[in-house]
Amino acid sequence: MKRKKIAVLSGAGVSAESGISTFRDSNGLWENHKPEEIATLQAWKNNMDGVLDFYNKRRKELQNVRPNEAHLAIAGLEKDYDVCVITQNIDNLHERAGSSKIIHLHGELTKVRPEQGVYEKDFGLMEVFDIGYAPIVRGDLAPNGKQLRPHVVWFGEAVPNIEKAIETVSATDIFLIVGTSLAVYPAAGLYRYARFDTPIYLIDPKDTVLKDKRMIHIREKAVTGMQTFMKMINESE
Ligand code: NAD
Repeated sequence: MKRKKIAVLSGAGVSAESGISTFRDSNGLWENHKPEEIATLQAWKNNMDGVLDFYNKRRKELQNVRPNEAHLAIAGLEKDYDVCVITQNIDNLHERAGSSKIIHLHGELTKVRPEQGVYEKDFGLMEVFDIGYAPIVRGDLAPNGKQLRPHVVWFGEAVPNIEKAIETVSATDIFLIVGTSLAVYPAAGLYRYARFDTPIYLIDPKDTVLKDKRMIHIREKAVTGMQTFMKMINESE
């Protein structure tokens, strides 16, 4: 029998129990950093050292955290389902938990690319380098002679992987959303592409802006929420 498909859309909340701050909760990263000061092309032009420093710190922090039970449970779904993880996160905790199909909508913290190049329009063709957890500084150049920048999508920049994500959500049998405020587009609009009969599960301890009659809101943190979700889908099979 063909295995059912599960598309998972994750946000900063799935990594919160690993110790990585979310953006918009109290104590979130943005409490100390305004998005327009850090995650925009304008910020890169005006304050390259500050932007590099911010991402260098995030990369270092990532080295010292581990995937939590929610990442592991999402990876474990692959035993019974055809799973694709669409993540807004730039961390690598889904990879480290063992998920095998991952679409990074907003880039990856452990990767860098030249700030200019022929590749800018299509991430797939871009000259992207894996640097692990090492810092980059002003003057670190790519082979094309251009300054290296974090391989992340800043506010106002295109989201090249959105087409792949839309295709995945359109074809899924179950849509699971974990730990996102659904405040950042186009990721926040992805649920609209789910088929009319596709159940949408949302795991998030807070109220949500998502209003859809297909939605089942599991109002819990990611780790316990994943256990509840597993029970629910096992009972409905
Ligand atoms: P967000 O900060 O806007 O929202 C976080 C959501 O997670 C909130 O709805 C909150 O209620 C929920 N949450 C908090 N703790 C939780 C927990 N333990 N379990 C489950 N849910 C929990 O983040 P977002 O929606 O992902 O969007 C903002 C942007 O933040 C994204 O573009 C993403 O790239 C970026 N971001 C990424 C990381 C990371 O890579 N780990 C960290 C911070 C921000």
